[in-house]
Order: sequence, then structure tokens, then C-alpha cells
Amino acid sequence: MIDIQNVSKWYGSFQVLTDCSTKINKSEVVVVCGPSGSGKSTLIKTVNALEPFQKGDIVVDGISLANPKTDLPKLRSRVGMVFQHFELFPHLSVTENLTLAQIKVLGRNPTDAKTRGLKMLERVGLMAHKDKFPGQLSGGQQQRVAIARALSMDPIVMLFDEPTSALDPEMVGEVLDVMVKLAGEGMTMMVVTHEMGFAKKVSHRVIFMDAGKVVEDCTRDEFFSNSDARSPRAKEFLSKIL
Ligand code: ATP
Ligand code: MG
Repeated sequence: MIDIQNVSKWYGSFQVLTDCSTKINKSEVVVVCGPSGSGKSTLIKTVNALEPFQKGDIVVDGISLANPKTDLPKLRSRVGMVFQHFELFPHLSVTENLTLAQIKVLGRNPTDAKTRGLKMLERVGLMAHKDKFPGQLSGGQQQRVAIARALSMDPIVMLFDEPTSALDPEMVGEVLDVMVKLAGEGMTMMVVTHEMGFAKKVSHRVIFMDAGKVVEDCTRDEFFSNSDARSPRAKEFLSKIL
């Protein structure tokens, strides 16, 4: 589904990603963790072509991002992305937030877009809030709307970059619950998070990054084991956050 092949990226003379490779299969949930500044956000942003890379390739559902002929906006429309900050349009109602990109990007008619958007809103448990504005919702609710908005576009994969780290602690659970449900329904997901409870519960694999490199790419059970095969750097990281 996603094949990241020897990707390197520089910001000017600073190399932010070095020879990163991994594969994410259909219906797999892969958690990406690692210290601040290790390149997690940069890597996930290269996957939906929000950030260009200079070396290697990323193939999403058979489409090469390095191929200059690839229609990147079209590809991006099929990759759902949820950020730390919810990035809803504050001047639009929840329903309008859910339908805008469907209409503008996918060319859906407003009636179909609304039907689809509200179905996804129901899925995240927020139907009662469809006519509110983002400012009238809690952070957790806004993030669930952001997830519903991404799902409304019928994504082939969902990317999450620390979706709960800007939330008050009591709202983290409701967003993780939605993500756990999605994972259970077979959504392919790449999730940058420090929520190791989520990783333990639903991830199939864990990628650990350090200084722009993929240092570990292993199964969840391997990652949380204390085996000697594990890198000292990853063990140290885990011991700090668990
Ligand atoms: P965090 O856990 O803090 O979110 P991260 O692992 O997501 O960190 P990135 O945001 O990918 O890390 O950043 C990786 C490195 O690239 C950092 O050293 C950062 O300062 C640098 N960097 C990120 N964006 C830019 C940019 N636009 N221009 C130059 N350097 C950047
Ligand atoms: Mg980041």
C-alpha cells in the first residue's frame, strides 16, 4: 500500500531524512515514534507529498511520488491526514467543513457530499454537533471532526501526526477510541504518536526514528519486548515515556 524506498531529504544543507525505508501493507497500523526532531513529521508529510524529498521514492497504492508525471494533488486527495492542531476552518460550520473538500477537490455534488460527511460524523459520534462552528466544540470534538472530514474523502490510507498531543488529557481517550475503531475496521494507518497504550493495543508494527533514520522497524511484540536485538536508543526512549 505504502512503500517508502530509501528516502533522503535535506532542508538546505541539513539532512533531515537519511535513507528511510519501510512498507505499510493494506489494513496495517504502523506507529512511528522517536525523540523530538528525529524526522517523524517530515517522514509522514513526504508520504502525502506535502514535503518533497530529493532521493529515493515513495509508492502509494502503486503510484510513484518521485515520478514527475504523477498528479500529486489527486494523490493527496486520497491520503487522509490528521494533524496535531485540528485545522478546521473556523468560519465554516461542522457540516461545511465536512463537505468543502469533497465538493471542491472530488467534484461531488453538495447533496452527496453532505450525505457522506454526515455519515462520517455519525461514525465519530458527533451528529448532534453538525450545525455548530469549530469554536463551539471541545478540542477532542474538533479532532474527531477533523478525522470525519478526512474520512469523507474516502482515503485509501490515513496518516496521523500526533493527533492527541495538543489535547487536554481528558479528551485524549475519545480521539484514540475513534482511531482504535478505524483500525478495527481495517483502515490502513500510519500514526506518529507517543501514546504507547494505543501502540500496544492496535499497532501491527512500530517504527522508531532517531536523527532522521529508521532505527527500528519491527512488530509490536518485538518492539515492546526487552530483547537484545532491540537498539539501546529505542530502549532508552521507551523507558523514558512508559
Ligand atoms: P517532534 O517530535 O518535535 O514533532 P519530529 O520527529 O516530528 O519532532 P520533524 O518536525 O520532522 O521532527 O523535524 C526534523 C528536523 O528537521 C528537526 O531538526 C527540525 O528542526 C528540522 N525541520 C523541520 N522542518 C523544517 C523546515 N521547514 N526547515 C528547516 N528545518 C526543518
Ligand atoms: Mg513532529
